[in-house]
Amino acid sequence: MDLPMTDRQRELVGIARELGRDKFAPRAATYDDEASFPFENYDDLRAAGFLGLTVPSQHGGLGADYADYMLVGAEIGRWCGATALTFNMHTCTMLWSSQMADDLAMTDDQRARHESRRAGIYRKVVEDGALFAQPFSEPNSAAAAGKAPFGTTARKTDGGWLVNGRKHFASLSGAADYYGVLCTEDRADAPANVKDTLYLAVPGNADGFQITGTWDPVGMRGTVSRNLELDDVFVPDDHQLMPRGLYYQAALSWPHMFMTLSPTYMGIAQAAFDFTVGYLRGELPGVPKSKARAVPAKQYAVAEMRIKLEQAKALWHRAISEAGINPSKDARLRAYTAQYTVMEYANDICRLAIRTCGGRSIMKALPLERLYRDSRCGSLMLPWTAEICLERLGRESLYEPGETD
Ligand SMILES: Cc1cc2nc3c(=O)[nH]c(=O)nc-3n(C[C@H](O)[C@H](O)[C@H](O)COP(=O)(O)OP(=O)(O)OC[C@H]3O[C@@H](n4cnc5c(N)ncnc54)[C@H](O)[C@@H]3O)c2cc1C
Repeated sequence: MDLPMTDRQRELVGIARELGRDKFAPRAATYDDEASFPFENYDDLRAAGFLGLTVPSQHGGLGADYADYMLVGAEIGRWCGATALTFNMHTCTMLWSSQMADDLAMTDDQRARHESRRAGIYRKVVEDGALFAQPFSEPNSAAAAGKAPFGTTARKTDGGWLVNGRKHFASLSGAADYYGVLCTEDRADAPANVKDTLYLAVPGNADGFQITGTWDPVGMRGTVSRNLELDDVFVPDDHQLMPRGLYYQAALSWPHMFMTLSPTYMGIAQAAFDFTVGYLRGELPGVPKSKARAVPAKQYAVAEMRIKLEQAKALWHRAISEAGINPSKDARLRAYTAQYTVMEYANDICRLAIRTCGGRSIMKALPLERLYRDSRCGSLMLPWTAEICLERLGRESLYEPGETD
C-alpha cells in the first residue's frame, strides 16, 4: 500500500499478497454466501508458517512484531475480510503473550512461569498448527468496553481453574482449537474486580464447553462468531496466557493492543478503492469497458476516495509507529483517532465506490457489495467502537485524569 516498510515487512506482506490474491480472493464469495469458516485459507496460512507470525523466533515462530502484524493484516484484509478479522484474533493472542507481555512489569517468578507457559502455548501453534480464538465480548457489553469486570468467572481449583460464563460473538467458533477467554477471578470472599482479570486458553473439546446460537449476519459472515457457554470448564494452570493481573496492566499501559482490529478494515478500504479504479478503467474481468472515467463526477468521487484513503493510511501508520508501553497522552488519543478514522472511512469509501461505479457493480459476481457489507462491521468492534472512540476523545481532550466539574 505504498507505506514505508522494512525489507522484512515487505517480504511478509508479499507472502500475504500472494496468498490473498491467488487463494483467498477466489474463495471469498463462497465463505460469504455460506457464512462458513475459511478453513482452506487457514491451511494455506498454516503451510506458510503464518499461524506463528507473532510467535517469537526462539519459539519457532516468524517473530513478527506489532507493526509487522498490522501491515500483514491489512494485506489479508484486501482479499478476504473474514480471514483477516479471524487471523487477528489468533495472531493477537500470540502477540499479547509475547511482545506486549515482555513490556509489562512482572516479578522474576511471574516472568519465569510465563516464559514456561507460553513456550507450551507456542508449541501447540508451531508444532501442532493449533488455532486460537479471542472471545472477550459478553452480552453485557460493559466488560468488553473496559468499564466493568467480565461476567465470566474462574475459580481456583487443584491444578487449574473452573470457568463459568457466556461469551457472544466468538469468531472462529467451531474452528479454533483454543479460546482465549477473558474472565474475572472468583475470589468468593471479595466482589468482582477488573484488576483480577484472567486470560485463559480454554480447549475447544473440554467438558462443559459448548458453542450455541446461529450466525447469519449482514457482513463478516465467514468469521462464524457464535456464542460460547462454559459450565464448570476445567482449564489447567499451564493454559494461562498471561499472569494474573497482567491483562489489566496491559489494557492501561499498552492501549494500542486494541487497535489491532483496524488492519482488516484498512485493507477493505484499499480494496474498495482499487476496485473502483479498475472498474472505471474497464480492467476488471467481466466488466464491460465504458467511458465513465471521463465523467468529471466520477473523477471527483475517486479523488474524494483517494483523499480519505490517504488520510486514513497516514494517521494509521503514525499511530502504529507510536505503539508501545506507556505512550504519551497525544499518542493514545491519536490511536483512538486512527481507529475511528479507519473504521468509519472504510465504510464511507465503500459507499462512495458503489455510488460511483453504479448498479452493475453491486452484483454478487463482483466483490464490492461484500466489501461494503464487511466494512459496516468495523465501527461495532469493542472495546474501541466508533462511539467509544468519540466518547474518549472528547472527554480526555477536555479533562485531565481526576478532574471533575
Ligand atoms: C463480525 C464480528 C466479529 C466479532 N468477533 C469478536 C470476537 O472474536 N471476539 C470478541 O470478543 N468480540 C467479537 N465481536 C463483538 C464486538 O466486539 C462487540 O462486542 C459486539 O458487536 C457488541 O454487540 P452490540 O453492538 O450489540 O453491543 P451493545 O452493548 O448493544 O453496544 C452497542 C454500542 O453501544 C456502545 N456501547 C456499548 N457499551 C458501552 C459502554 N459501556 N460505554 C459506552 N458505549 C458503549 C458501543 O458503541 C456499541 O457499539 C465481533 C463482532 C462482529 C460484528
